[in-house]
This record gives sequence, structure tokens and C-alpha cells, in this order.
Amino acid sequence: MKIYNTLTRTKDEFKPLKEGEVSMYVCGPTVYNYIHIGNARPMIVFDTVRRYFEYKGYKVNYVSNFTDVDDKIIAKAIEEGVSASEISERYIAEAKKDMEDLNVMPATIHPKATQEIDGMIDMISTLIDKGHAYEKNGTVYFRTRSFDGYGKLSKKNIDDLEGGHRDIKVAGGEDKEDALDFVLWKPKKEGEPYWESPWSEGRPGWHIECSVMSKKYLGEEIDIHAGGEDLIFPHHENEIAQSEACNGKQFARYWMHNGFLNIDNKKMSKSAGNFFTVREIGEKYPLQVIRFFMLSGHYRGPINFSEELVIAAKNGLERILNAVDKMKSNYENSSVDNITENEKELLNQIAEYNKQFDLAMEDDFNTADAITAVFEIVRFANANVSSDNSKELIESVLGTMNVLCDVLGIETEVEKELLDEEIENLIAQRTQARKDKNFARADEIRNELLEKGIILEDTREGVKWKRA
Ligand code: AMP
Ligand code: ZN
Repeated sequence: MKIYNTLTRTKDEFKPLKEGEVSMYVCGPTVYNYIHIGNARPMIVFDTVRRYFEYKGYKVNYVSNFTDVDDKIIAKAIEEGVSASEISERYIAEAKKDMEDLNVMPATIHPKATQEIDGMIDMISTLIDKGHAYEKNGTVYFRTRSFDGYGKLSKKNIDDLEGGHRDIKVAGGEDKEDALDFVLWKPKKEGEPYWESPWSEGRPGWHIECSVMSKKYLGEEIDIHAGGEDLIFPHHENEIAQSEACNGKQFARYWMHNGFLNIDNKKMSKSAGNFFTVREIGEKYPLQVIRFFMLSGHYRGPINFSEELVIAAKNGLERILNAVDKMKSNYENSSVDNITENEKELLNQIAEYNKQFDLAMEDDFNTADAITAVFEIVRFANANVSSDNSKELIESVLGTMNVLCDVLGIETEVEKELLDEEIENLIAQRTQARKDKNFARADEIRNELLEKGIILEDTREGVKWKRA
């Protein structure tokens, strides 16, 4: 299996530290709002990477954090007049709901920064002891130049950086020995959440959180560290400096980064305000469609979010789900149990498509090509599988289809949930049927909705509905 490694800028053969196991850390969101669909991209991409490893028989230890203390969380808490933890707990719960709807498997563990402060104090103390960090007026800085490999991930030259950061030296951080140094611990400001530490009542910097949580749950050396490409610098560069300076070992062997999800060719981000939350999009499309849309392009390239492309993804996904439905009914209607000699030939073809899928995924998780292989099976099934075939053949094609879709995190067995728009549409049809005195049709619609868990209530103001 080959993985494009940001550290080497090449596709490297994947060799796990421990035979048959993968340790993976994925930087998670800062929780001060609903997650947007840009944040959903790394979740979906790396969940698919995990699923592929599991399909190949690896045991995956998958850790993804929530950053639950941060300036933006505190600002939101002040705005609402509640505590910072109320904000972060609320949006962690909401993020978990969205992840479930996107079919993102829960991580082996989802650590929260605020629960790991002791570990951060330990690591910072070690860095001070080893001469890699220093304290000034309650703030602790990492001594960037003390770490020889600084810049190796982002391929930045430390001296060029200094020039580029001169403004910072003037604008703030007057206590820094060097403009390149970054914060490991900072004192609280009035009204902010804080923890006791040897240096000040304060809180950790963002980068140290991930170094500590990764070490605690996965060990000093891990296989894969991942996140969006905006994290390469400074976040991941700083994580490497902290972890390797502290532990004296290579931190992560493979660094994976997803490209941006753009709108009008600009990165979707909360701060730029050009974002859609997963929740909003979920009201318009089943979230499986969004997942399928994201996997239709290579994870390292940018993808542009547009209605047109999402609709194309919706149509593609429907073709797959329809083929599955058709095979299921063919299976029910088949009267032959055992596979025939001719059918065995057909199954060779399916094995070929399965191989094509695997080869695409082995080549740096090329989900776009893997999906092409799934469409080959759709085409094959539509052309060759009918109720005249044996149950054994149909089951086998269906089985392959289900397994491959599961690697992509696409559920083929789910009842399709009705969208608000579809419900409103059916209600309008029922109202019309009643006007036309077609009560049989009106009842039929009511029952159809009820079967899908939608309860109608006829009131004086019109028809109201709710989900059961
Ligand atoms: P944040 O909450 O901004 O720290 O982001 C959480 C994760 O989402 C990180 O891995 C980011 O790199 C990723 N991310 C944020 N915005 C986008 C985007 N527009 N496209 C792809 N990934 C993104
Ligand atoms: Zn991180």
C-alpha cells in the first residue's frame, strides 16, 4: 500500500510500526459552532482510510481530538453569557450527531484538550528541562531554533521564516527570545477559564494539545498523523518540534493531508463566513450524498462545492442504491439456489472489479478510481443479474457490492429517510387528493408517511407533521 507522505513528498510504501496494527491521529475541530462541510472533509477522508485498513485486516487505533479550549470558544461563551465548557460540550454533542449522519465511525477515543492538562504540563516541563522551552512572565515559549529539524514537514527554511515573521516581533510577544518561538502555555486573562501550573494560572497553546494526546493514547511513535492541509504549517510543524524534542524519537512516520473544500475557489472557513454547516446541508440532501461527493475526488486535491456537483453525486449514489435494490428483489424472486458453471465465469469478472477497487485504494486511497470500480459492478449487475440467476450468484455480487460500499462508508441497507421537502410534497399531494374527494389516495399517502415515521396532524391551520 502506498501513502503520499507530506514529510517525504512522495508516495511511500506503508509499513506499520507493529505488524497488523495502525495507530492514527487525526486533528479534530475546535468546537464553538456546528461543524461545516469543510471540517467534514478530513472526517470523511480519514474515516475511509481507517475503514480500508480494517477491511484489509488491520487493527486500527484511531484517535481524534476535540479542541475544547480556545479564544473563539471563550468569545462565544462571553457572547452568550455562559461558560466556555457549556459551549464546547454543546458543540461536541452536535459534532458527534453530524459525524453519525455522515457515517463517520466513532474514533477509538475522542480526547478533549481540557481533560489532558496534566499531560501538557508534564510535556512542557520536560521541554523546559531539556532547554527546548523557557518561561517569561507566566508564558512558556518553545525555543524553535533549538530543534534541528524545524521546517522539515512544511519544507520551510528557518531563516526565511524569521524574515517573514519580523512584524510579529514588533507587534507582540515582546518577551520572546526569537520571533519564531511559539506559545506552549499562556496566562489567563480576566474571566477566562484557567488551570494551575508551575508558570501561571492559564491554559495551553493549541499545538501542545495534539502532541500530548497523541502520545498518551498512541505512544511516542505513531504510524499516521493527519488533518487538513492548512495544518501543515504551523500546527503540524510545531507538533513535530515539541514531540521529537521531548521524546527523542520520530513522531509520526506518515503525514497525510486533505485538500480544501472550496466555494467559488476559496477555502470554506468559519472565519471567512463562506460556509455551510453539515446540519444545513443535511436538510437538503441525505448526508450520504455529501460523503459520496467528497469521495468522488482525490482527497489531496481541492474540491469545489457546488449544487451541480452535489446533484451529480446524488444521481451517482442513486444508481448504486437502485442496483442494490434490484439485486435484492431478484434474489427474492430467484428460484435457483446453486450457482451454475456459467455463472462462475461471471463471478470472475466481479473478482476483477474487486481487485480494481483494491488497487485504486492501495495507490494512496484513490477513492475516485475505487468508485469507478463500484460503477463497473453496477453496470455488470444491471446487464447480467436477473431473477433467472441463482441465489448464490446474486448473493455473491450483492455481497461484494455491500463490502466495497462499506469501505467507502456508504450504507446500502438503510431505509432512505424522507427529506423535509419530500414530506411537504407528499402532504400537498394528500391535500389535493382530499379536495378531489380521492380519500383512498389521501389515506394511502398518510400511511406511506407513517411507515417512514412521519406523523400527520390535521389542524385548523392546516396539516402539521412531525418525525416519530
Ligand atoms: P478547525 O476547526 O478549523 O481547526 O478544523 C478542523 C479540521 O478541518 C482540520 O483538519 C482542518 O484542516 C479541516 N478543515 C477546515 N476547513 C476546511 C476546508 N475548507 N476544507 C478541508 N478541510 C478543512
Ligand atoms: Zn492537532
